[in-house]
Amino acid sequence: MPAKNIDLTIIGGGIAGISAAIYSHRAGLNPIIFEKNVLGGQLLYIDTVDNYPAVYPHTPGIKFVDVLNSTLQEFKVNFINESVEKVELSDNGIVIYSENDTYLSQALIIATGAKPKRLGIEGEDLLIGKGVSFCAICDGFFFKDKDVAVVGGGNSAVEEALYLSHICKKVYLIHRRDKLRALDYLQKELFSKNNVELVWNTTVEKIYGEGRVEGVVLKNLVEDKKINFSVSAVFIAIGIEPVTEIFKSIVDTDRDGYIITDEWMHTSRKLIYACGDCRRRPLRQLITAASEGAIAGLSAYKDLRGNYISQ
Ligand code: NAP
Repeated sequence: MPAKNIDLTIIGGGIAGISAAIYSHRAGLNPIIFEKNVLGGQLLYIDTVDNYPAVYPHTPGIKFVDVLNSTLQEFKVNFINESVEKVELSDNGIVIYSENDTYLSQALIIATGAKPKRLGIEGEDLLIGKGVSFCAICDGFFFKDKDVAVVGGGNSAVEEALYLSHICKKVYLIHRRDKLRALDYLQKELFSKNNVELVWNTTVEKIYGEGRVEGVVLKNLVEDKKINFSVSAVFIAIGIEPVTEIFKSIVDTDRDGYIITDEWMHTSRKLIYACGDCRRRPLRQLITAASEGAIAGLSAYKDLRGNYISQ
C-alpha cells in the first residue's frame, strides 16, 4: 500500500510539538502531530505552572493543556493518536512508520521530550505502580496521610515533595549531597514545611515490600551507615533522559542522547528539526520548549516553501 503524503510530521504532543504545529500551520503548512498518549506531555503532570508570563499564578498544568487543546481545535491541526515506531530516510522523503500506518513526509520535527531516569536499584522495577512512582500528581492521592519518600535534589524532587506535603503525613526528601540544586524559592518553601524532613548525604540502596512498598534501605554516605525507613511510597525524581532512541541513527546526538541542533532547530539532517526536552539546550522550561517549537515550525515552513522569515 502506498504511503500517505504529509508535508510536515511532528512527533510528540507536548508544549514544543504543539507550539511547532501552531506556528507551522498558521504559516501555511499542514502539519500532523503524532502522540501516543493524550496531548499535553509533561504539562499533564505539573501541579502549577509558574515562571510563564501572562498565566495566572498557580494555574494547574491540566488547565494550560485545556487551552492548548482548544487552540489546536480552532486551527484544525491534525492529531494522530499513535506512537511512531520507526523513521527512515528515502529518496522521496522521510518515511514515518506509526503503529498502524506508513506515511511519507517532506519534513519532520522531533518533539518527543524526555522521560524520568531510574535509580537502577533492587525493588524499583518490581514495585512500580505498587508504591514506586515517578509522578506525585498522578499517584500522591493514594498515599494520603501516609509516610512517603522522595528521591532527588533538583526542581522536580522539591516540587514533588511540596505537593506531597499537602497530602501525606510525612515526606522524607532523600538527597545524595548536602545541598539541593533546586531554585531558591522552591527550597525556601520546602524548608518552611513542618512535615518534610531532609535526609542529606544519603542514597537509596533498596526498596522493599511484599506486593507493595513497605520501606527503603538507605545508606548515609558520610557515616557509611545503613538505615531502614518505613514508607508507603517512593517518588523518584532524579532527572530526565531524552526519548530519542529511534532517531539516533539519523541525526547527531550528544553522549547523553540529546539531539544537537543549531539556533533554528535544524538537526544534522536536512528538513529534520528538534525542539523541547529531547534537544540539547541550556534551559529546560515550558517557555523555552514553546519558543523552540515556534522556531522549529517556522524553520520547516521556510525550508519547505523557500519563503523568507525575518531573522
Ligand atoms: P535535575 O535538575 O537533573 O536534578 C536531578 C537531581 O537528582 C539532582 O539533585 C541529582 O543529584 C539527583 N540524582 C541524579 N541521579 C541520581 C541518582 N542516581 N541517585 C540519587 N540522586 C540522583 O533533574 P530535575 O529536577 O528532574 O529537572 C530536570 C530539568 O527540568 C532541570 O533542567 C530543571 O531545572 C527543569 N525543571 C524545572 C522546574 C521549574 O522551573 N519549576 C521544575 C521541574 C524541572 P546532584 O544534585 O547530586 O547531582
